[in-house]
Amino acid sequence: MNTAGGFEALDTVVGSDAPVLPATQRHARPGAHHAELVEQAVAVLRQAAAEHAGAVVQASSLGVEDMLLTDLIHRHGLDIPVATLDTGALHPQTLELIDRLRRHYAIEVQVWQPRQEAVVEFVARNGREAMYRSVDLRKACCAVRKLEPLGRMLEGRSAWVTGLRREQSAQRDGVRERETGDDGRVKFSPLAQWSLGDVWHYVAGHGVPYNPLHDRFYPSIGCAPCTRAVAVGEDQRAGRWWWELDGAKECGLHSEQGHAVGARP
Ligand code: SF4
Repeated sequence: MNTAGGFEALDTVVGSDAPVLPATQRHARPGAHHAELVEQAVAVLRQAAAEHAGAVVQASSLGVEDMLLTDLIHRHGLDIPVATLDTGALHPQTLELIDRLRRHYAIEVQVWQPRQEAVVEFVARNGREAMYRSVDLRKACCAVRKLEPLGRMLEGRSAWVTGLRREQSAQRDGVRERETGDDGRVKFSPLAQWSLGDVWHYVAGHGVPYNPLHDRFYPSIGCAPCTRAVAVGEDQRAGRWWWELDGAKECGLHSEQGHAVGARP
């Protein structure tokens, strides 16, 4: 696996000042039932807020789908707090988006970080580029930087809201709007049926803030070492853990049964 090649591609695209067509213009394409999709998504969010009052959270990845959901939550005055993970390995553009999100909607955004001692120990033992050496080490890094803080984020919550869509990958084609995990926690995915075109149509039409990396051909954005731009025609998740086989391209935040795995109550 040529990691250097991955970083070169990343630097070329992110560092370039060449003008690009914004993602809103590239992707916005409403389906015939766009208005119904919006209504259904709001209905799912209302249900989450009503049935789990005070015990539901939007676990935002800060990707475009989650930015859309935050817009719907804010626009409809729903009592669903927004939380996200700062793994310590995010792009500067993603960190800046957290502040933009706070300012744009005048809301609090909870930021959950991994335990520093666990990160230091993992890096000391396995190195900074451990994720490229094996799937097991990559998953171990995700466990330390993502799953453990997610477990704390969800502690005491009976439900969470995610931006998962079926179209994102083969691993996600079974996502439903409402799923209950083995732990009894309900996961709401109001955009399960949305297409990428519908997502960007909403974002363009409502002035939703989004990560500028989306304009630079990053459809899915995670930690910097594990995310790159994709080429035309590539899968929406192709830029994540691109050195691994397709079947492994999940970090464990979302299991097949639709619940958070790893540390959880
Ligand atoms: S996405 Fe990469 S850097 Fe981020 S937690 Fe997983 S392996 Fe570590």
